[in-house]
Amino acid sequence: EAGETLLEINNIEVIYNHVILVLKGVSLTVPKGGITALLGGNGAGKTTTLKAVSNLLHSERGEITKGSVVYRGERVGNLSPSDLVKKGVIQVMEGRHCFEHLTVEENLMTGAYTRTDGKGAVAADLDMVYRYFPRLKDRRRSQAGYTSGGEQQMCAIGRALMSRPETVLLDEPSMGLAPQLVEEIFTIVKDLNEKEGVSFLLAEQNTNVALRFAHYGYILESGRIVMDGPAAELRENPDVKEFYLGVS
Ligand code: ATP
Repeated sequence: EAGETLLEINNIEVIYNHVILVLKGVSLTVPKGGITALLGGNGAGKTTTLKAVSNLLHSERGEITKGSVVYRGERVGNLSPSDLVKKGVIQVMEGRHCFEHLTVEENLMTGAYTRTDGKGAVAADLDMVYRYFPRLKDRRRSQAGYTSGGEQQMCAIGRALMSRPETVLLDEPSMGLAPQLVEEIFTIVKDLNEKEGVSFLLAEQNTNVALRFAHYGYILESGRIVMDGPAAELRENPDVKEFYLGVS
């Protein structure tokens, strides 16, 4: 049911290399059917928060030292990334990670590896991805490494969709892209949210665009949430305007 809580992050602390405290008690919730934005400048801890959810901290010598991550009422802090994918949660990493030497279509198909519901269902989802990203269909036989930055970002999102996720953790989709492409990608995210019911937790430095497309926002500064609210209210907040939207 729309509005029920999917993901809950409760007061987590994250430490890198046993010493550096990067998240200092972060709490947030992601409701079903929403686009929730996690905002903040470079180094605020957005990527760390997403990795704490998808259990990708270990490879960077990071660990959650306090608090919990709960998905649909179940603590998921000890699940592997692929077990989490089976639960419906997938992360699209910053920097559009595609396999450069595979074609776009091969990249998309790698996203379906955890599925057990048969070829027909996977083929239908490939069609769905191509419907939302017609550019990917045009480029489906191209090696991903030779496609544009925008196409690689689309490919990374498309690959995540191939796991039939309930919730997508999307890290900095605007990074390095021209404004028009950022607009195009966010419009598709909004469509996926409205028409396919995919929920998003979106980490973004581009506050302006994120608050136009998200329903709710959290602002992270130096590892702490300093403000949160409905996106429309944050857009009108004088502090947000001054410090994050560049107008006062
Ligand atoms: P960005 O937009 O640059 O990704 P961010 O808000 O996502 O910023 P994080 O990448 O989560 O921020 O980084 C938060 C802090 O943690 C930064 O001070 C960063 O230097 C530090 N940090 C990140 N990864 C590591 C690591 N593997 N080891 C030690 N410190 C790290």
